[in-house]
Amino acid sequence: MQIRGTGGSAGIRKGVYFEAGIHAREWISPATLIYITKTLLEDYMTGESTAVRFLDTFDWYIVPSLNPDGYVHTWTKERMWRKTRSNNAESAFSGCTGTDANRNWPYEWGGKGTSSHPCSNLYQGRGSMSELEVEAVVEFLRDKKDKGQDFVWFIDWHSYAQYIVTPWSYSRDAPDPPNLKNMLEAGQVMADAIASYKSNTFYEVGTTAELLYEFSGASIDWSYAPYNKYDRTAGGLDVPYSYVVELRDINKYGFILPEDQIEDSGKESVLGVYAMGTYIIDVLSAEGKL
Ligand SMILES: [Zn+2]
Repeated sequence: MQIRGTGGSAGIRKGVYFEAGIHAREWISPATLIYITKTLLEDYMTGESTAVRFLDTFDWYIVPSLNPDGYVHTWTKERMWRKTRSNNAESAFSGCTGTDANRNWPYEWGGKGTSSHPCSNLYQGRGSMSELEVEAVVEFLRDKKDKGQDFVWFIDWHSYAQYIVTPWSYSRDAPDPPNLKNMLEAGQVMADAIASYKSNTFYEVGTTAELLYEFSGASIDWSYAPYNKYDRTAGGLDVPYSYVVELRDINKYGFILPEDQIEDSGKESVLGVYAMGTYIIDVLSAEGKL
């Protein structure tokens, strides 16, 4: 979906990109992103000030389900399926299907925390962007960037663990991202807003490699990495606020989050997005970048 408000500039605006469902079994992720999108639109229509500010400032690009074949597979055949459904017939392991699409992005592809074995749940693919789903997003966003649209905010929605994490993912030894302090502050603002919803859902904030684990070919590393106009396999999209959000819960139900938590996840995530986006707009405005 592409969404922009009818107010604000008619020309090129800064872009926001949210995606969900890259891992098939993380059902709360598409549900939550759809809920956020619905609320944003409804709030805009009623003139709610944050939604108006968001939609009249940015162009929003939203992919609620980036891995639809995998998603269908989790509904019909195998609830705990994670990867894409591409076949690996060219390899010696043609019986093993799928690639981990969040090991397949073209920045620091094929390093730590991935596998070159097609049967692994962390299979990186036969090359970066071997997966159509990843390639399509890279091509689409690079095309916008080429035409002069800069992206400022990127969230890849996952579950579970209740984490808000920033680059870098590929290595704990990588130099800190230049604006890490601001990224972490914005993450904490989101976590505080989520916790304010019913005062019982707490998210931790940190870098991916420190808080989660090290892995390469990650969407957020590609998002954050400097843009290379001439080589789509090198560099990234240069997005200053890049995140993975790992939604509910922590360890009780895991991927099989009960249905009665869908709405709460949506509502608290709306609060988180509104708070984080407000922080980002305020900082970018103060820096003269909006
Ligand atoms: Zn995931």
